[in-house]
Amino acid sequence: MNPSGVERYAFETGIYRPPSEGGSDSLLIRLTRNCPWNHCTFCGMYKTEKFQVRSVAEIKKDIDAMAALRDDLAALSRPSGQGTGVSHDGAVALIGKYPALNHHPGFAMFYHWLLSGGQTAFLQDANSLIMKTDQLVEVLAYLRATFPTISRVTTYARAKTIAQKSLDDLKAICGAGLDRLHVGLESGDDAVLEHVRKGATAEIHIKGGQKALAAGFQLSEYWMPGLGGQARWEQHARNTARVLSAIDPHYIRSRPLRPWPGTPLAGEAAKGSFEMLTPAGQLRELRLTMQELSVNSRVCFDHAGNYWKNRHGGHLLSLSYEGYQFPREKQKILDLIDEGLKVGGQ
Ligand code: SF4
Repeated sequence: MNPSGVERYAFETGIYRPPSEGGSDSLLIRLTRNCPWNHCTFCGMYKTEKFQVRSVAEIKKDIDAMAALRDDLAALSRPSGQGTGVSHDGAVALIGKYPALNHHPGFAMFYHWLLSGGQTAFLQDANSLIMKTDQLVEVLAYLRATFPTISRVTTYARAKTIAQKSLDDLKAICGAGLDRLHVGLESGDDAVLEHVRKGATAEIHIKGGQKALAAGFQLSEYWMPGLGGQARWEQHARNTARVLSAIDPHYIRSRPLRPWPGTPLAGEAAKGSFEMLTPAGQLRELRLTMQELSVNSRVCFDHAGNYWKNRHGGHLLSLSYEGYQFPREKQKILDLIDEGLKVGGQ
């Protein structure tokens, strides 16, 4: 055996996953590297990186390495492990045996996943559905068989890729154990989508979202308050609400625009050709979006970018991953936004 354990436990871990997957201590499994589109002008996530689909053999090797790590941790944890089969003592003993684990990029993630009960997994990176259907199904089956404690698997997916897959393919992927798709809508306004080079129209987003639901997936749609700027805030709000209402996903998640340094949109904002909304302007836009929204979704503000304050100086809107249930809590959100506007929208 490799004395450092580097080879025995070698697996890749990407950087990005939704906050809700961090909160639930998800296992991160890397199916592809980076983003196959990579043109959105507000996004700096994978800008300098080349997209690659990893082979099924390579991904299975990662899963095998994780299984070996689980088994070795469990073996050393037996004297003190509780419930989850691993323990701090076990981790310390294994690191003592293989000190290189201190520098393993995925060890802490994997250990915390086991400690939390090993229940959820997230497939990285930006668009796992771009894999060939039979390959994705094979990976999902292998992952589920290797880690039977997993009860939920999620991934990022582009609406255009979902729209291009056949319903039968989507059903096969869902049936193989992929439960939830996280999709970046950003805006339902075609002019805004074109301006930020999202590579999908409102109609493609509706088609992709409806198809994902018809295939049986749980669906999380992300939108970006402020993305229309001063020039198109009203169309951005109305059309985003229209598209989300047509899809009616399980979750709608707010990610207010913050120009990412070095991105084309940040450059436009610096030059003044894109005029950012003020915090109060963003809140007014949010109010119109919520007012127009006709869904049965949970609307979530589960990211620190939803910075608006209430009259006590605390967060105006809950950062909970489960958010607010529409339509029941729609008025509650509108009342909270009115409170935020009264204190200046900061
Ligand atoms: S599709 Fe997603 S990851 Fe890719 S460039 Fe656009 S926002 Fe970034």
